[in-house]
Amino acid sequence: MDIDSYNHHSFARWLEEWFKDTPCCLCGEIHEVKIHQFVDRNISPDNSRVLIVIRIICNSNFKKREETGEKLQYTITMLPGFLIPHSRVPLPDIYKAMDEYLSGRETIQQEAALIMNCQSRHSFRLYYGRFCKFASKWLSFLSTVFPEIIEKEIVVEIGGKWKQIKKILKGLTVGTMEGLSDSSGLCRRFEYAHTILSGYKMGLGP
Ligand SMILES: [Zn+2]
Repeated sequence: MDIDSYNHHSFARWLEEWFKDTPCCLCGEIHEVKIHQFVDRNISPDNSRVLIVIRIICNSNFKKREETGEKLQYTITMLPGFLIPHSRVPLPDIYKAMDEYLSGRETIQQEAALIMNCQSRHSFRLYYGRFCKFASKWLSFLSTVFPEIIEKEIVVEIGGKWKQIKKILKGLTVGTMEGLSDSSGLCRRFEYAHTILSGYKMGLGP
């Protein structure tokens, strides 16, 4: 799902389909997932752009909570892959900034921040710091999920790790992404991989 063609109605339909054979992220069971609420969400650092995201309800946890009084979470916001929890910077902008900064050009952090539409280099440093923290884990995780496309060489330098991650992403063949041109295709693959990594608590969110 890309940021310009995103539409919350089709995302809602997609989620309903998705949860037909995917366990609910709140109770772990497969059951029908209902839309609880549409929520406005700022998706730009200066609050100039708003999208509608979806909060789903898990009736199973809701019922259990009513019956037992246990404080179970029963609603959760579902974000499309280009958004990060608690972040106003869309993932494609972070990808572009990171790529520019780590690809050996003489980009300084302030310039990278501007690519993300942020005024302060600290905004870039926040995501960059998280990336540095997870880069090795991402590589070893991706190498277990996609063993056929992993680089065997272990790189220490952070720019080298970014390069390896991009190489792995290039090898990913995921349905509709195959026809996408190189740079936008890579960014979409990055979103896809990031969604999986977030599920394992290795995302770029807090
Ligand atoms: Zn559930």
